[in-house]
Amino acid sequence: MYILLMGPPGAGKGTQAAKLVDRFSIPHISTGDIFRAAVKEGTELGRQAKKFMDSGQLVPDSVTIGIVKERLAKSDCQSGFILDGFPRTLEQATALDATLGELGVKLDRVVNITATDNELVRRITGRRICKGCSATYHVTLNSPTVSGKCDKCGGELFQRADDQEETVIKRLNVYQVQTEPLIGYYRSKGLYAEIDGLQSIDKVLEKVIDSLRGDRT
Ligand SMILES: [Zn+2]
Repeated sequence: MYILLMGPPGAGKGTQAAKLVDRFSIPHISTGDIFRAAVKEGTELGRQAKKFMDSGQLVPDSVTIGIVKERLAKSDCQSGFILDGFPRTLEQATALDATLGELGVKLDRVVNITATDNELVRRITGRRICKGCSATYHVTLNSPTVSGKCDKCGGELFQRADDQEETVIKRLNVYQVQTEPLIGYYRSKGLYAEIDGLQSIDKVLEKVIDSLRGDRT
């Protein structure tokens, strides 16, 4: 099963990816993770990427695609993968098609887990993280017993700068502008399925699995 997973920050994509890994025994390939791994391992492409990042520049597509390709070519991807965080642009999407063609595989489904902006803002801005043990909470959805204190270690809870409202709205806008063309691209290929991320985690998973079986939403 070759799955491309999309979704704005806060829609629950990571949670669903973990569930799909369990269900299908295929790896979750998050581009953030493989970038960090390539840089850490000091591969040729990893070193190139690091040079751009260290000088505050965007890593060019050729390097990004190379890193994705190296990862998708590994043996654990032979019966499938869940790709997450890539592609972000149409250029990257066509490059991904070419790469998959070289590897002799095809995407089975592009699943986009969505939610309204209001709900995403509510979910993200309510996140709190423990300074001591990094446990995560939510002020209303998963609040600690004592306000502002971690249940596990008693540490102080804080809000990441990235999770503040103004930043969240900016992140969502950037995400939407970037992703809109991809939706059209994958829809025209008959691969696209959109799942409402506002349902319970199990219900979202059920819908995702339905969509993988071929049901369109
Ligand atoms: Zn803690």
